[in-house]
Amino acid sequence: MRIENDVKLDFKDVLIRPKRSTLSTRSNVDISREYRFRHAQVDYHGVPIIAANMDTTGTFEMARALEPFLLSTALHKHYAVEELVAFFKGLERKFAAFYSMGIAPADEERFDRVMAAAGPGSDTPIRCICIDVANGYTEGFVRFVAKIRERYPHLVIMAGNVVTGEMTEELILSGADIVKVGIGPGSVCTTRKMTGVGYPQLSAIVECADAAHGLEGHICADGGCATPGDVAKAFGGGADFVMLGGMFAGHDECAGDVVERDGQTCQRFYGMSSRTAMEKYSGGVAQYRAPEGKEVLVPYRGPVAGTAQEILGGVRSACTYVGARRLRELSKRTTFVRVSQQTNDVFGRS
Ligand code: 5GP
Repeated sequence: MRIENDVKLDFKDVLIRPKRSTLSTRSNVDISREYRFRHAQVDYHGVPIIAANMDTTGTFEMARALEPFLLSTALHKHYAVEELVAFFKGLERKFAAFYSMGIAPADEERFDRVMAAAGPGSDTPIRCICIDVANGYTEGFVRFVAKIRERYPHLVIMAGNVVTGEMTEELILSGADIVKVGIGPGSVCTTRKMTGVGYPQLSAIVECADAAHGLEGHICADGGCATPGDVAKAFGGGADFVMLGGMFAGHDECAGDVVERDGQTCQRFYGMSSRTAMEKYSGGVAQYRAPEGKEVLVPYRGPVAGTAQEILGGVRSACTYVGARRLRELSKRTTFVRVSQQTNDVFGRS
C-alpha cells in the first residue's frame, strides 16, 4: 500500500485569479479553437464543448440545437443504424456530432455496419467517434482503440475514461486523438461511493493535459462541471474539450420523461450505469455487478439554447478577467488560487 501526499484538487477547491489586461469587453473574446489531431490529421474548428453521450443528452435534437453555437454532441449508443446514417449524412458541420461506441464485439459489428452504410472512405460523413468505457485502464480497451485506429486511420478518435498521465500517453500512442478524462466526478455517477475509486477532476485534467500535449494529443475533461465557472476552470487547467452531462440535462432537446413534483416541472436524468439504464438496455442489473449511477429529477429548463448561451457567456467573461483574447490563451493566463469557500450562500444556493 502507498499513500500519495500531494494535494489533488477539484473545481470546488480553486478560483481563477484575475489579471490586469487591455481587453475592454467580453464580446471581443474568441472562444472557438482550432486543432489538428495527431492521428487523423484533420483540422477542427469550433467551440470545444461537447454534450455527453448519455441517453438523455446525447440526442439528435441536442446536436441540432448546439450546432449553431459551434458546439458538439456525443450521440448516445442506442440509435438504430439507419437513423444514425441518415443523421450523419444530413449533418453540415462534421464536428457537430460524435458517434459513440463501447468495446464489445456487438459494438464493433454495429459500427462497421454504420460505416459501411455511411460510406467508409475518407469523405465519410462520420468524422468523429467516441470509444468509451467506465474503466479505460484495461489492456482490452487499449487493444480495441489500436484496432479501430488501424482500420479507420482518418477518423478522429476520442477514447476514455482515464485520470492519469501514463494512461493518457498510452492511449494516444495506441491511436487516440483525444483522451477523455474523468473517473467518478459525474453528477449522476456513484462510482466513488460504490468502489472508492476516483481522482479529483481538476488535478486529473492538469496532469492528463500535460501528458497529452507533450505528444501532440488532446484531452476532453468529462464530468463534474456544475457551473459555467467550472467549465472555465477546466479550460484553464488545460482541457482542450469539456464534456457536459448534467448542465445540459432538463431541456426540450433531451430524452427523458417530464414529470411534475411538488408543483415543479422536472425531467428524469440518469447515469448510464444506473439501474434505470441497465433495466432499459440489459434487462436489469447483472448479478455480478452493482449500479454505479443514479437517477435524479432535474428542473425543466426549456430550450437548451439559453443554457448554451449562459455557459459561453461565462467562459467568455472568465477570459476577460485574465486578459485572454482567445480561449486558446486561457490556460497560459490561468493562476488558480486555493480557496476554502467558493460563493456566499447566505441567501441560499443558486
Ligand atoms: P456531468 O457533466 O453530469 O457531471 O458528468 C457527465 C459524465 O458522467 C458522462 O459524460 C460520463 O462520463 C459520466 N457518467 C454518466 N453516467 C454515469 C454512470 O452511470 N456512472 C458513472 N460512473 N459515470 C457516469
